[in-house]
Amino acid sequence: RAKTEFLSSMSHELRTPLNSILGFGQLLSDGTVEVPPEKQASFAGQIVKSGQHLLDLIERVLELSKAETGKLQLDLEPVSIKEIIGDCVDMMSAEAKERKVELFNEIGATELPMAFADPARTRQVLLNLISNGIKYNRDGGIVTLSAEAGEDKAIRIVVRDTGSGIPAAKWDQLFEPFNRLGRESGPIKGTGIGLTISKQIVEQMHGRIGFESSEGQGSEFWIELPCAADTD
Ligand code: ADP
Repeated sequence: RAKTEFLSSMSHELRTPLNSILGFGQLLSDGTVEVPPEKQASFAGQIVKSGQHLLDLIERVLELSKAETGKLQLDLEPVSIKEIIGDCVDMMSAEAKERKVELFNEIGATELPMAFADPARTRQVLLNLISNGIKYNRDGGIVTLSAEAGEDKAIRIVVRDTGSGIPAAKWDQLFEPFNRLGRESGPIKGTGIGLTISKQIVEQMHGRIGFESSEGQGSEFWIELPCAADTD
């Protein structure tokens, strides 16, 4: 049943941008409707936008299928979480500014052991969590990154936001592929697979992912990665 549901939502997700590409393309090409020149550029722009979204979806689906069959290439090594968080905050600062959200790195002088993880994949997961914290926030909202030594000799990284939060009734659907928890037709762009892939990646790095959320107040997503010292 999960597979059928997955396939049906995937076809829907792929069909939506494709229909927009075909629709605008037909309007421009069939000549039965007179399209003023200024509209032509805007139609072409819609085609490009939908095409990019489609490409993004397909790349993510491919990655998801690799993640689910355990075929993701992972290079586990000692990594500095402090450095990775610094990189991620730098990379996301423009997006935060654009969305009128403040992004804070609270790591400061906190002493942290090295984690044993794949640096690029860790970055990918954190970028996804930060991006969600920014996207689902409010004007003037805040996203904060912090880290600490967690349970069982793991390092816990926390991404906290002051956004819309997630209603308790939807918590169990959060990591389902293509499930956008009802935001499909809303203004915020997304594919609904970011968290599914993040969970797969974290678990394949022998870590854990989780969250706490309070509707209307914000969410806190965390990941725990093993410390490098405990793996040898
Ligand atoms: P996407 O953001 O591409 O839709 P994700 O897999 O990253 O997909 O997230 C799935 C859904 O979970 C989102 O569509 C959104 O409804 C909800 N969500 C994720 N992160 C947050 C957050 N920080 N605050 C509120 N809702 C969130």
